[in-house]
Amino acid sequence: MKILITGATGNLGRATIDFLSEKTDVANISALVRNLDKADHLKAKGVQLRTGDYENPVSFIHSFDGIDVLLLISTSAMENRFEQHRNVIDAAKKSGVKHIVYTSVLKASADSTFGPGIDHYQTEQYLEGHHINYPIFRNAFYTEIVPMLMGDALQSGNWYYLAGKAKINFASRIDIAEALANVLANPAGHINKIYEIASDKSYTFSEIAAVASEVSGKEIVYIPIPLEAMKDGMRQSGMPEPVISLIASGADAIAKSELDITDNMLESILQRKPAGLQDSLLKLLTIAG
Ligand code: NAP
Repeated sequence: MKILITGATGNLGRATIDFLSEKTDVANISALVRNLDKADHLKAKGVQLRTGDYENPVSFIHSFDGIDVLLLISTSAMENRFEQHRNVIDAAKKSGVKHIVYTSVLKASADSTFGPGIDHYQTEQYLEGHHINYPIFRNAFYTEIVPMLMGDALQSGNWYYLAGKAKINFASRIDIAEALANVLANPAGHINKIYEIASDKSYTFSEIAAVASEVSGKEIVYIPIPLEAMKDGMRQSGMPEPVISLIASGADAIAKSELDITDNMLESILQRKPAGLQDSLLKLLTIAG
């Protein structure tokens, strides 16, 4: 069974390939990259490299030849997300790919407050309508982004964010990568499933601040702020508008409890407990601090 991973130069793709290479001969693994200069580590591992850019369907000629199972890692682009995913799905289907594993976001829907959630939902619908086997991984926000959400809170002690008293569920990107590798190695066991990939516990931001304080040894207080204040802060720091809009929509979705769901599917695919928030933050904030 030949498996191809897109987004292979990114964090999730790279980690998935690492786990997958423990489950199958590396000769069965290919990676799709848009920039070969970023793929030396993959080449060194023995992974077969193919090129392709989600934005450019012409670039996919031969990219998916002989591939049985595709991991389509969602784009990191700010716009045309659905169109990019559609380009990949169309080319894969044309080449006879049998299974597509797609990375979406928790509770993706046509009404998602989080901007990419709508594009993910459109992609999910497109996959469902295209008579190709899929499982969809609706990933929780990565625990790895918590230091980024905290801004300078580790230094200042004040964590300003729009979340009110809402809860959010995080999952470790490394755990998600391992779960993806398990599914890629056995796609027949996951046909046309939609998985909410989350941990078994959601947290308010005050609770996350308490865990962060404990593991970092620095007192961090969560201070809720309104949406407009959050946007103004990002504008003052010179962020481009599309990035502000992406981050603000994510924060608004959290505040509306749209990313609060607990689920045991990640645990079930891993056949062990996923990493807890405390253990993950201990590693992440020790590095960040
Ligand atoms: P990442 O490190 O930014 O990796 C994104 C990967 O997608 C990179 O390999 C990138 O290639 C590739 N890519 C982007 N646009 C492409 C295009 N037009 N054609 C071909 N490849 C393209 O992100 P990650 O941490 O691995 O996360 C994977 C995905 O999850 C992201 O792309 C995003 O959709 C989503 N995400 C989720 C969370 C979360 O908290 N759940 C957070 C951030 C992002 P290059 O190396 O050439 O740029």
